[in-house]
Amino acid sequence: MPAKKATHQQTKQHNRDLILKTLFDNPQISRAEIARTTKLTRATVSDMVADLIEEGLVAEVGYGSSIGGRLPVLLSLNADSRYLIGLNLAQDKFIGAVVNLRGEIKETCEAPVGSNNGEQALQIVYQILDQLISTDCKPIVGIGIGTPGLVNAREGIVVNAVNLDWQDLPLARLLETRYHLPVSVLNDSQAMAIGEFVYSGSYKSDDNLIVVNVGYGVGAGILINGRIFQGDGGGAGEIGHVAVQENGVACRCGKYGCLETVASARAVVQRAQVLSETSDPQINSFESLETAFLAGDPLAQRIVTEAGHYLGFSIANLVGTLNIKSILLTGDMTCFGESWLGSVRESMSEAALPRMVQDTQLEIGKLDFRGCILGASASMLLSGYTLLFTQTNNN
Ligand SMILES: [Zn+2]
Repeated sequence: MPAKKATHQQTKQHNRDLILKTLFDNPQISRAEIARTTKLTRATVSDMVADLIEEGLVAEVGYGSSIGGRLPVLLSLNADSRYLIGLNLAQDKFIGAVVNLRGEIKETCEAPVGSNNGEQALQIVYQILDQLISTDCKPIVGIGIGTPGLVNAREGIVVNAVNLDWQDLPLARLLETRYHLPVSVLNDSQAMAIGEFVYSGSYKSDDNLIVVNVGYGVGAGILINGRIFQGDGGGAGEIGHVAVQENGVACRCGKYGCLETVASARAVVQRAQVLSETSDPQINSFESLETAFLAGDPLAQRIVTEAGHYLGFSIANLVGTLNIKSILLTGDMTCFGESWLGSVRESMSEAALPRMVQDTQLEIGKLDFRGCILGASASMLLSGYTLLFTQTNNN
């Protein structure tokens, strides 16, 4: 009966995913420990592990300790048996990388993105992917993209990315057609959040985490019970385009006074350009602002601190809404370090309930720009081991 057969197949796939996840979570582990962790029988684990070894995904790497009897053989995921590509489209340059199953970056490729032309931006994506796919890292089993803007992750559509001039772009379908690989498309802040969650080594698989990414734009990625929360329309965490200032400056989204117009890397540069016009040093780029800030220039310090304050108020809203205790800050603005972080903390503390703030840890993320690349590639891992480990049609 076909129905029964399908069920058997599904169970097998489910067991396989469970075992792979356990191997992913543990650098080295015995068959017996896998059976204990997954609650599968020893026989099921042994059979499946034999298959995985034959496929080259898993290797026997040595012996563990024993309290009597035979020493258990330790297994490990073969990190370089499959590769993924992660692509970060969130900066003034696109950065892509080939990543192995442990999140180690093997090859990178980047290209500047000049104009506001959607077709051109897409060509640059192709260029980078063409180059990464032609490297010696094989087989590549999936492509993950972190893009700014509103994303329908289920369909792989970039609904709206203003600075890339993309609207309703079916990016996943375009790339799947061109490269014959599974593709996942995520908002860059959500990708960043997954990257920090999976690869910073600080979280258990069912933890909660908010990552607020403050670069050219501002956005948050929210993980609840270890899963990215995208909201009903994919826009969960789009705090950058919520107004925080009445009668504020015009935002690139068409509204006024958005958080992004006062707290982003772009905002502080614009403000510095205006305020330093007649003073010395004249600040006209993010780099010159950073230099002035580090040299203790009072104007630069004031601008950065003010930006931090606005961000802190918005984060207080997240604290009040979600009460997630672990919040990380990532993106260009983190280069201003402790004093910027201090101003964010201060206004967050002012604006949210003291008891909730007390329990909230606000820190700077560990992975810098790599977070988005790693998260985009790991989104393939999280979305199903099935997808990742069974498709190898790019040999
Ligand atoms: Zn806006």
